[in-house]
Amino acid sequence: MLRDNLITIKDNIASSCSISGREVDTVELLAVSKTKAIPAIMEAYELGLRSFGENKVQELVSKYEEMPKDIKWHMIGHLQRNKVKYIAPFISCIHSVDSLRLAETIDKEAQKHNRIIDVLVEVNVSNEESKFGLRIDEVNNFLNSIYHLKNIQVTGLMTIAPNPHDQNENRPYFKELHKLFVDIKQEKRDNVNMNVLSMGMSKDYKIAIEEGSTVIRIGSNLFGSRL
Ligand SMILES: *Cc1c(COP(=O)(O)O)cnc(C)c1O
Repeated sequence: MLRDNLITIKDNIASSCSISGREVDTVELLAVSKTKAIPAIMEAYELGLRSFGENKVQELVSKYEEMPKDIKWHMIGHLQRNKVKYIAPFISCIHSVDSLRLAETIDKEAQKHNRIIDVLVEVNVSNEESKFGLRIDEVNNFLNSIYHLKNIQVTGLMTIAPNPHDQNENRPYFKELHKLFVDIKQEKRDNVNMNVLSMGMSKDYKIAIEEGSTVIRIGSNLFGSRL
């Protein structure tokens, strides 16, 4: 079943890329394995997937310990500062950076391990109160405020879109974040290397790809619903 799901997702990536005139290899599939047990994740690994996303630190650490070491683990959930130390030794990318204090903590912990950790700035494009992330108009100042931190590298932007009945309602949010992404990229700022636009989940990834996403975070469409 996982195998069929993966084939469907890859087909959809290909058709969304072709609709929007993009190369298929410009979109990375991040397999969101939160709540899923090791055998299912191992099955995905054996199908060739190497990037997995989790949203809870404890679960992330224990899966990291049990799974093969060539996996790139991504933290996609809200991150408390006192838990950064547990993932700092191995995490590939943190998608949910939205405060100076969190960025400073990641920088400090990365330094202890002699690493530079890739981070994405989480943006709350739809301004939903329930969501974490900076407003669009706060991103520039935020980038200025973290520019001196040498052990983190800002590699892009991330957003979690709303969950409307008609997924096309998310298109304007994806468009808006893509525009900000391109603007920042063109500025060529120090310590910012805009390559990653993490947007799109099971329900809206096709639209996100059409609007320029480079990383889609897919859980239920790949592993089955989480219930
Ligand atoms: C759970 C989660 C996903 C995956 O959601 P699905 O709808 O199951 O694909 C993507 N991004 C974040 C931040 C999540 O927490």
